[in-house]
Amino acid sequence: MKQSGQCPKCGSNHVIEDAKAIDHYDYGVQQEMQVGVDRNPNAWIFKAQAKSAVSAWLCAECGYVEFYADDPNTLAKAVQEAKDR
Ligand SMILES: [Zn+2]
Repeated sequence: MKQSGQCPKCGSNHVIEDAKAIDHYDYGVQQEMQVGVDRNPNAWIFKAQAKSAVSAWLCAECGYVEFYADDPNTLAKAVQEAKDR
C-alpha cells in the first residue's frame, strides 16, 4: 500500500499515508508503537535491543492497516549482529 497507493484488500486509492501508530499513553504522554530486535538475544538482561518506530498506511474505505518500520536498516543490522555473535 505504501508503494502502490492502493489498498490490497478492496482496491481503493483513498489511502491515508504515514499515520502515527500510537501504542499507549504514559502519564498523558503519547508513546509511539515500536518494533525491536535483540542484538544479543541470549543475554540475561542486557539484550542490546535495536528499536524502530512504526508508521501506518491505512485504507480510508475499508480500514485495512499496514505497518512499516521507520528505520528498517537499524533492525537489519541488529539481526546481523545477533548472527555474528
Ligand atoms: Zn481497502
